[in-house]
Amino acid sequence: MPEVLFPLDSARSFTDQEKVGHNRWHPDIPPAVTVRPGQSFRVHCREWFDGAIHNDDSAVDVRDAPLSKVHALSGPFAVQGAEPGDLLVVDILDVGPIPQEDSGPLAGQGWGYTGIFPKRNGGGFLTDYFPDAYKAVWDFAGQKATSRHIPGVTFTGMIHPGLMGTAPSAQLLATWNQRETALRATDPDRVPPLSLPPEPRDAILGTLSGADFDRVAAEAARTAPPRENGGNQDIKNLTKGSRVFYPVYVPGANLSVGDLHFSQGDGEITFCGAIEMGGFIDLHVDLIKGGMSTYGVSENVIFLPGNTNPQYCQWLAFSGISVTLDGEQRYLDSQLAFQRACLHAIDYLTKFGYTPEQAYLLLGAAPIEGRFSGVVDIPNSCATVYIPTEIFDFDVRPSAGGPTRIDPGQGAPKASF
Ligand code: ZN
Repeated sequence: MPEVLFPLDSARSFTDQEKVGHNRWHPDIPPAVTVRPGQSFRVHCREWFDGAIHNDDSAVDVRDAPLSKVHALSGPFAVQGAEPGDLLVVDILDVGPIPQEDSGPLAGQGWGYTGIFPKRNGGGFLTDYFPDAYKAVWDFAGQKATSRHIPGVTFTGMIHPGLMGTAPSAQLLATWNQRETALRATDPDRVPPLSLPPEPRDAILGTLSGADFDRVAAEAARTAPPRENGGNQDIKNLTKGSRVFYPVYVPGANLSVGDLHFSQGDGEITFCGAIEMGGFIDLHVDLIKGGMSTYGVSENVIFLPGNTNPQYCQWLAFSGISVTLDGEQRYLDSQLAFQRACLHAIDYLTKFGYTPEQAYLLLGAAPIEGRFSGVVDIPNSCATVYIPTEIFDFDVRPSAGGPTRIDPGQGAPKASF
C-alpha cells in the first residue's frame, strides 16, 4: 500500500483533520502536501457533502443539502518541478470505498447514496419533471451494489473519482469568473441558477487564514462545473488503471481530488446521480515537460481509461430526438435528445412496476452508457441510452407476454419544500 499522504479520520469533520483540504478553486490555496514526479501515494477522500447525507429512509437531508459546502476535496498536492505549460500525468493505481471493517455513519463505509436534487436546491437533468428531492441508499457487498429503495437490481460498481484537477492560474480563474458571471446576468433570477458565483460562506481553503482567506474566499471558483483544469467532470470511465493528463497552470500543478463514486451512469443525470461515497485513491504522478504545447492540450484534459470495467454485454437501448414533450421541433439539440431518451427509458421501466423516481435514480447510478448517436441529420439530433439488461433480477426485455411486474417496495424516500 502506498504511503498515506492525505489521511482523514472518519470520526472527525473535514475541517478538524491533520491536513485540511479545500472546497473551492484558487491558485493561492497552499499545497497540503508536496510529492515528487514518479511518486505513488494514497489519499483519503471525504464524501462530497462531508457526511451531511445519512443512511436512512428520508430525503430531507438531500432537500436541504448545503451546496455551499461542496466539494470536500483532498489536496492540493504540489508536484516538484511542475511548471505552467507542462502536462501532469496522473495514474489511478487503485480507488475504493472506506474499508468495511471501519463501518460507520459516513457514506463509503459499506454504503453510499444517490440523490435527486430538488429544483430549488441544485436541480438535475430532468428537474422540470422531478422538482422534489428523493434519495436511494445503496449497500455495498464487495464490488456489487443493491438498494432497499430500488428493488430488483444488482450491479457491479465502476469506482472512479467524480472530481480531479489542477489549480487554475490567476488569469484562468478571472476568465472563469468573467464568463460565468456574464452567463448568469442573462437570466439572474433563474431557478436553478445558470451558474454559481464565488461564495465565501462555508469556504474551506486549506491552511489559509486572515486577510488572505477573505480575499481568496471572495474570488475562488465553485467546484460544481468541469472546466479547463478537469475538475468535476464526472466521467465514469476514470476507473482504476486510468492515466489522466492535466494541463499545469501554476508552479507545482496543485492537484486535488474528491467526490468518489462507487458507480455512475453516463451523464450523472440526477445531479447527484452517482453513488456517492468517501474512500481512498492511490495515485502516481509524473510530468511531461512542455507537454501542453507539444500535444496541443492546453485547455482540456485527455485520458487513457482504465480497463477493469464490469463486462456487461447485453443492453436494452432507448433513443430520443430533439423534439420537446409538447411536440415542438428544435434544431439539432442533443441535450434535449438525450433528455428524451432518458424519459423514454424511465417510462419503459415504470411498466415493470418501478416508480418514475426509482427509474430516474437507477439511470443516474447504474453503469448505463449515454451516446450522441446522430448530430448531423437536420433537424433532429439522436441520442441513445443503453441499460445493461443483466443488472435486473427479472427479464426487462419486451416480449409478447408483457412485462413482469416487480414489487417497488417502499419506493425512494421523498421530500418536498
Ligand atoms: Zn459526486
